Amino acid sequence: MITLALSKGRIFEETLPLLAAAGIEVLEDPEKTRKLILPTNQPDVRVVLVRATDVPTYVQYGGADLGVAGKDVLLEHGGEGLYQPLDLNIAKCRMSVAVRDDFDYAAQVKQGTRIRVATKYTTVARQHFADKGVHVDLIKLYGSMELAPLTGLADAIVDLVSTGKTLVANHLVEVEQIMEISSRLVVNQAALKLKRDKLRPLIDAFAGAIQP
Ligand code: ATP
Ligand code: MG
Repeated sequence: MITLALSKGRIFEETLPLLAAAGIEVLEDPEKTRKLILPTNQPDVRVVLVRATDVPTYVQYGGADLGVAGKDVLLEHGGEGLYQPLDLNIAKCRMSVAVRDDFDYAAQVKQGTRIRVATKYTTVARQHFADKGVHVDLIKLYGSMELAPLTGLADAIVDLVSTGKTLVANHLVEVEQIMEISSRLVVNQAALKLKRDKLRPLIDAFAGAIQP
């Protein structure tokens, strides 16, 4: 049995064409079923639905043989025990620093002021500000980072941005782009050896179906 870990939403949706290229069709719609294990048209392939941030953990410990996870999630996880053969070029966005539109970020940085930064991505954020020599106090959040500058919880946020519409709607402006984000295929290192005959063709099919 091959177990593929996916998160519901954009990653599931954007992985479907790659699965199709490998001849795999998921037989149930995650938005309609309460099941967490979904069968496919191939009796020896199944999909498990997990939180986006849990995908690397499932694959690392063998709860799944492979999975699809955002670079953001992988950087926070650390990538331990994971083979990352492919950038799938899906779920694309960027990780950025944003502040309230009335906060003069450049001036604060220039003055060497300590800035309070709220984020779910503390590892990446810490590294980014250390590289720039900006002094920050990091506040770990798990959701709706946009709210932090509006309530005075923080001066800035580090969050994912795609269109920027959420920022605009909340009177925030993007002041720095930290990195481009897309999702990668992650494979359990032991599974790759033990189930190579099944996994290798799957990885090759995915590789051939990646859109530029
Ligand atoms: P939840 O939204 O359920 O709290 P999540 O934010 O971790 O969980 P998704 O929103 O499905 O899960 O995001 C999954 C991945 O998709 C992220 O890890 C990131 O790599 C990417 N992503 C997040 N937001 C966007 C976006 N607005 N546009 C494109 N890709 C995104
Ligand atoms: Mg989300």
